[in-house]
Amino acid sequence: MSSIAENLQTVRDRIRAACEAAGRPPASVRLLAVSKTFGPEAVREAHAAGQTSFGENYIQEAVDKIAALRDLPLEWHCIGPIQSNKTRLVAEHFDWVHSVDRFKIAQRLSDQRPGHLPPLQVCLQVNTDGGPTKSGAQPADVLELARAVACLPRLVLRGLMTIPDPVEGFEAELALHRRATDLFVQVRRELALPKFDTLSMGMTADLEAAIAAGSTLVRVGTAIFGKR
Ligand SMILES: *Cc1c(COP(=O)(O)O)cnc(C)c1O
Repeated sequence: MSSIAENLQTVRDRIRAACEAAGRPPASVRLLAVSKTFGPEAVREAHAAGQTSFGENYIQEAVDKIAALRDLPLEWHCIGPIQSNKTRLVAEHFDWVHSVDRFKIAQRLSDQRPGHLPPLQVCLQVNTDGGPTKSGAQPADVLELARAVACLPRLVLRGLMTIPDPVEGFEAELALHRRATDLFVQVRRELALPKFDTLSMGMTADLEAAIAAGSTLVRVGTAIFGKR
């Protein structure tokens, strides 16, 4: 079994190779290490190997982990579904949220963001491929949602996030990711927000296709920490 440090290097190499293949500068893609289900010690190991941004799905698990790691200068990203009764915890403990899919949640996050913390950095989760029951805003609703969220005082709208269902083959992945990129470019052009710069897309299995399509942030768990 390889160590977290070795795995991180492998993932960085994959990102660099994918950027080169796409003719993009390697610094144009950020790596978010998804540490859900792994304990604080695994995060410490990744931090010692140079990783500072971590993604979590389960709010209560994350809050405990963030508390246990308060001595380290880490950036925490919420990437999991958010129920209304969990918005306060998210607003109080995270730096970023990728999984905002309706206005009510955004409004609560803004209202509940403590005054001593900087604004919460937010991406809108978009359902670019699934049926109506899958989480994420419908593509047709994203522009209007983005317009409304951009007005909330304690949030900064940074971009879009997608979690496409697995498909077979690079070309199919690429086609799916390109739909998200088209939407991202459209919202960026329409709203012209100064900080709308993040397309959160790509995981362990499909980061190459996501980067080829224009992702600026890949969320990688399994390839860094191992199987969950
Ligand atoms: C778990 C998870 C990831 C990481 O997935 P891996 O396949 O383990 O890399 C990324 N994004 C979200 C939203 C997740 O829930």
